[in-house]
Amino acid sequence: MARTADVVVVGGGVIGCAIAYELAKGGLGVTLVERGTPGCEASSAGAGMLAPQAESSAPGPLLALKLASKALYPDLAFELSERTGLDIEYETGGNLHCFLDEGDEAVGRAACAWQREAGLKAELLGRADALALEPDLSAEVRGALFLPDDHWVNNPRLVTALANAAAQERAAFVTGEVTAILRTGDRVTGVRVGDEAVRSAAVVLAAGAWSGQLAATAGLTLPIQPVRGQIVCLEGVPRRHHHLLHVKDHYLVPRVSGQILVGASVEWVGFVKQVTAEQIRAFLDAAMRVVPALGRVPIQATWAGFRPWAPDERPVIGPWPGLDGLVAATGHFRNGILLAPVTARLIRELLVDHAPSFDLTPFLPDRFLH
Ligand SMILES: Cc1cc2nc3c(=O)[nH]c(=O)nc-3n(C[C@H](O)[C@H](O)[C@H](O)COP(=O)(O)OP(=O)(O)OC[C@H]3O[C@@H](n4cnc5c(N)ncnc54)[C@H](O)[C@@H]3O)c2cc1C
Repeated sequence: MARTADVVVVGGGVIGCAIAYELAKGGLGVTLVERGTPGCEASSAGAGMLAPQAESSAPGPLLALKLASKALYPDLAFELSERTGLDIEYETGGNLHCFLDEGDEAVGRAACAWQREAGLKAELLGRADALALEPDLSAEVRGALFLPDDHWVNNPRLVTALANAAAQERAAFVTGEVTAILRTGDRVTGVRVGDEAVRSAAVVLAAGAWSGQLAATAGLTLPIQPVRGQIVCLEGVPRRHHHLLHVKDHYLVPRVSGQILVGASVEWVGFVKQVTAEQIRAFLDAAMRVVPALGRVPIQATWAGFRPWAPDERPVIGPWPGLDGLVAATGHFRNGILLAPVTARLIRELLVDHAPSFDLTPFLPDRFLH
């Protein structure tokens, strides 16, 4: 006999798990289908930054969405800890964009100006003030842009906590590959998992970089592509680093465990999950240029993951026009960890309350149909 659910969520990354948790809390019968383990793809490969300011170049609806999502994190961290006992390591030290030359300073000054104009906290620091925040900075660092409201979490832990919390709310987790989104005319009727159909009135497509392939199984076009990101993880770093550090195109993210993640590349190479020598060399050069002492700590691991990218670099959130019951939640590109709480809330508002609290127009899948 076919399984049934109110809603099937396809994909158990941070987006799918956050949605499953939110919908189950909202009283819906949720089945999440994941072919691996929750968080096994981009959501664990990411660096965990909640950095609306560092990750934006102008005000607009996407920045507003990022800020709304970041504002949900303090309560989410508390709630997940209470429910699951897992600490997602929500860290609030802020973000230092280190200047190595005049070009960096000019970029930092411009970013500082528009961000303050937009009402955000941003401060230009001289070398002495930057060193007061991070004493191990190299002699090359001549100043920094400080963004105190950019924060970070331990993202693999976050996905586990969301999955556990969703399971506590009676969301069902099915391990298997969705091979088709099922439809009858202009209504979605569920998904196919192996030989089994899981019937549901709604399907949330949260399959990350694979979302376009899945949409195609229902005859739909969704131009999501994978964008590879690589990271090198250093370990055993003394707990002296309490800020995100940016230098040129690279960043360093300290974890409570004494790890520092250094990343990341942005590569259009399809689904080729390789770590390359040239990227790892670039990460290590950047890390040692900004904090020379990092040259003496061990490399723990390297990895790569696939960010889900849409051509206009905005997430795709909302109902599919002309196919009742299908809802997209994908294309979060460089900000899926940051945007997970607000995405989940919006999907709940769509499916449970039928009244989203945010203007979804810039994010609807409709924009790809014209
Ligand atoms: C190197 C790197 C650094 C990053 N840093 C940050 C950061 O600092 N901050 C930030 O906010 N974001 C960051 N990101 C981006 C962020 O990781 C992604 O936007 C986010 O993880 C996307 O989540 P997702 O759930 O959509 O996708 P995924 O985590 O990829 O999840 C999709 C899931 O769907 C499953 N799936 C796919 N097809 C099927 C199928 N047919 N059947 C069943 N299951 C299926 C997959 O197995 C996978 O688990 C980074 C990404 C990378 C790669």
